[in-house]
Amino acid sequence: MNLSYWEERYYFEDNDLVVVGAGIVGLSTAIAAKSARPELKILVLERSSLPSGASTKNAGFACFGSVTELLSDSTHMSYEDQVSLIKMRWEGLQLLQSNVSRGDLSFRSRGGIEVLDSDNAFQMSALVKVDEYNTMVADAIGLQDCFSVVNQSLSPSFYPKAIYNQYEGELNPMHMMAALHKKALNLGIHLLYGASVQSVASSEIHLSDKVITSSKIAVCTNGLSRTLLPNLPMQAVRNQVYVTECIANNPLQSCYHYDQGYIYFREIDGRILIGGARNLYEEQETTSEFGQTDNLKQYLKSFVEEKILGVATNFEYEWSGILGVGDTKSPIIKEVEKGVFVGVRLGGMGVAIGSGVGKALSEKMFN
Ligand SMILES: Cc1cc2nc3c(=O)[nH]c(=O)nc-3n(C[C@H](O)[C@H](O)[C@H](O)COP(=O)(O)OP(=O)(O)OC[C@H]3O[C@@H](n4cnc5c(N)ncnc54)[C@H](O)[C@@H]3O)c2cc1C
Repeated sequence: MNLSYWEERYYFEDNDLVVVGAGIVGLSTAIAAKSARPELKILVLERSSLPSGASTKNAGFACFGSVTELLSDSTHMSYEDQVSLIKMRWEGLQLLQSNVSRGDLSFRSRGGIEVLDSDNAFQMSALVKVDEYNTMVADAIGLQDCFSVVNQSLSPSFYPKAIYNQYEGELNPMHMMAALHKKALNLGIHLLYGASVQSVASSEIHLSDKVITSSKIAVCTNGLSRTLLPNLPMQAVRNQVYVTECIANNPLQSCYHYDQGYIYFREIDGRILIGGARNLYEEQETTSEFGQTDNLKQYLKSFVEEKILGVATNFEYEWSGILGVGDTKSPIIKEVEKGVFVGVRLGGMGVAIGSGVGKALSEKMFN
């Protein structure tokens, strides 16, 4: 690197914290640390010119769990752990809305609907669990009557009753990240894009042609973390997302979940966004490579045409993003070697928990 004195001093010297990754967790970590201790000098390094993580590629659901997801979790999680998970998701969403205004997030509170398949006994069993999970949500976050059974008029392909979550919302992920970016800059945090970190070790961050030192390093690279820290107990999985052409008389009026949230769809700008189904193509989608595949795309296209619309449509936008998942739904927030901390493994609800993970990581490093 051919750096001037000014560049060297401004970006690279005397940093108290270097954050790797400018997704929701990286920026929230930097924002939390700088807000608590304005004297800190903080640098965030992002490998791409546009962040290439999940934070700008996600579906924008501001949610905290559908009933079939909770039901499935209950087979391997204790009641207390489920309560903690709901609390973490809900509080993360509140923290996000205190970091960035609802207007700047383009936040909409239209609720969420879980549609059910009458041929699927597991899904149908969710209908009688609504009271139980209302108690769980009330225990977690104090909100009453979260879920209710409603008439489902979206499509005859689904069971005529669905489960409505009145507290769910949705947002524009790009607006969210742009607002966090602006907030970080306003606080005096330095951000460098196109800075791909090759390795990290105690006090040292290696770029291809530069070594930076900092007593604290926060690795916030989620699904891509094992490139830097191969022993982390997590893996990368891909999620493909598709957006249709504009639909006349679009039948969607809020966020929808199906099959434990593995398939999600909602209305955006008169179109239908649909994504997920990675559980149906598990081996293929266990990858850190971006990409679309014909089989999964065709499955989601048929889902829209046959189950939602009843007529043919075209996808006009498509992309994929990489998640970090593990055996549990808890993120990893810890010091992995002296001075090197991680805030990773956000799973499928990083919009919900990302702000809280950043805050917790900042507190671990500086309290
Ligand atoms: C398709 C899809 C849909 C989703 N939908 C939702 C949803 O609706 N609601 C919800 O709550 N969650 C959703 N999620 C999950 C959520 O988006 C993620 O959990 C969250 O964005 C993770 O944030 P992060 O900051 O940990 O990681 P990321 O956003 O992945 O950020 C990590 C950053 O690190 C950078 N990076 C990686 N390696 C390096 C390196 N070596 N050097 C420098 N920089 C590096 C990457 O470029 C990236 O910008 C979805 C995820 C996907 C993929």
